[in-house]
Amino acid sequence: MGLLDAKFEKGGVVISKVEDLLNWSRLSSMWPMSFGLACCAIEMMATNASNYDLERFGIFPRSSPRQSDVMIVAGTVTFKMAERVKRLYEQMTEPRYVLSMGSCANCGGPYWEHGYHVVKGVDRIIPVDVYVPGCPPRPEALIGGLMKIQELIREEEFGGKREDAKKRLAAKSAPAEEVIMMQHPYLAGSAGQAKKEKEVEEAETAA
Ligand code: SF4
Repeated sequence: MGLLDAKFEKGGVVISKVEDLLNWSRLSSMWPMSFGLACCAIEMMATNASNYDLERFGIFPRSSPRQSDVMIVAGTVTFKMAERVKRLYEQMTEPRYVLSMGSCANCGGPYWEHGYHVVKGVDRIIPVDVYVPGCPPRPEALIGGLMKIQELIREEEFGGKREDAKKRLAAKSAPAEEVIMMQHPYLAGSAGQAKKEKEVEEAETAA
């Protein structure tokens, strides 16, 4: 028996804030945009298949950015593609969320050092809410990232800032960026890149 069933069985009344009710309805119907950029997209497609049954969480892909509130950046963001990614993001309705899936979208991945054609982290062109590490991440990891967005929505307040909701979430559990840093110091998007650039600079100065 679910939590709601139990509550109704006891008294038939549930008391909540309108804000919580709206947040609950939003996090129970997240609609990611169905587009992929490279090999990570194969795992994203697998996540949408019957084995993982994402629809039980109210998550199912839409083919138009105008009907989507979640963008999963699954794959390598080339400079040619960057402008399109940004345009798709701008076409999405507010409030919108971005999940960066895999090393390429997080920081450039295998193209980190010599990929002249690859953006070194999609957070350089659009704001990212959750980073999922891996090359590619497994469906379970992507589902974990989507759950993280649900947790974030639960923390949001009317008229409040997204950053404040992130701080409240970080106070309760590890922020996604830190989870990535624990996996690999260079997989945290721009923050990781800045760290590496500093290390290279220090090594050159010492030489
Ligand atoms: S992170 Fe790995 S699997 Fe994902 S797009 Fe890049 S190279 Fe492919």
